[in-house]
Amino acid sequence: MMLRGMSLHPMLQRALLASVLLLAALVCGPVLAEVTTEAIQPPSETRLPVDLEQELGARWQAGGEIVVFATEDGVVRVGRRATPPTDAAVEHARRAEHFALARKLNLVTAPRVVPMALPLFPEQIELLQRFALSDAGAVWFREMADDTLRLFNQGYLDYDATVWRAHLDGGPRPPLSALITGRLSEAGLFAQDVSVFRIFAYDGIGSMAAAASVRMGRRGFRCQFQMSGEPVDPFAILSHEFGHSRYGDPRSAGLPLGEAQTVARYENPVRLRNGFPPRLVYYLRLEPGRPPITRNPLLMRLLAWRDLPKLRLGDLEAVDGLYCECADAPGLHDCLALLPPASLPVDGEAPRSASSPALPDAERCELRWVAVRVAPRADAEAP
Ligand SMILES: [Zn+2]
Repeated sequence: MMLRGMSLHPMLQRALLASVLLLAALVCGPVLAEVTTEAIQPPSETRLPVDLEQELGARWQAGGEIVVFATEDGVVRVGRRATPPTDAAVEHARRAEHFALARKLNLVTAPRVVPMALPLFPEQIELLQRFALSDAGAVWFREMADDTLRLFNQGYLDYDATVWRAHLDGGPRPPLSALITGRLSEAGLFAQDVSVFRIFAYDGIGSMAAAASVRMGRRGFRCQFQMSGEPVDPFAILSHEFGHSRYGDPRSAGLPLGEAQTVARYENPVRLRNGFPPRLVYYLRLEPGRPPITRNPLLMRLLAWRDLPKLRLGDLEAVDGLYCECADAPGLHDCLALLPPASLPVDGEAPRSASSPALPDAERCELRWVAVRVAPRADAEAP
């Protein structure tokens, strides 16, 4: 040992020791840690609701490049490089990687992966792929991918150790989509906080959403909306459904104002960019014979439409109309027109024939559609 028998000043001894330790750190550090200097960041711990208008106004939508790396302890981790793409081809590659990740983890392609979920048809997967490569789809698939990054860093996703080994042995760095198997790890299977976002099919037409899923009807989309006759833009519909999920506002689905806001925030921006006119009215359909169980004050009052004192005038500001189906009277009827004129909130404006014999009895009618006006976005209003 170099220092033995020598009487060095304690200060000098300490300085020497420090420099030896520093040297050791310099030699050993980089050998174990694959990535230490690059600015690779994991996704933020908490999700923020997507502001689609703002995202679509930005130059790129896919976010930073996903990079898998090993920590100093040899643990496999994943993050994003902050650098924006150099050109459209690089952006496209990032979007494609997000779709590849979703295809492995989020898209249900086999039966019994999720209870009640039907596997997606190949045409539905193709549609989702085209959506993922579009500007709006890139935003939503980026959010889904960020969840995948979080799950991976928590150790909840199973990955192919031989693929990773090949990289450590000098092979190219695999993309995350090539590393994960699409299954949960042992830890993930038993963890309480795992919630994989799923896209799957159901028997029926159109699409639906919940906080952790988007569902697509196997009979596809309509070409026109049932009530308004407006043309349907499938990408805008998918964006609308993602808007109901945990990446947007999960409390908006099935509620009059929530749906109108979803159209304004998440559907119309996509329609406008795809050359479709914006939707101005949203028609909320109520299932026949199954009144919705709700605590939403507006919907509760609308459901009690026969009891006009409860339906206050102010409530109707956003409501464009209430449409009823009546026994023995085919077609749709304006529910409020079926009520005695004296009890109508807008009294005396348009005197209607109180004794119209053609009108069905309100008691034999059921509210079927609530038409809600889609408010223009406050920040998009003309000056
Ligand atoms: Zn909706």
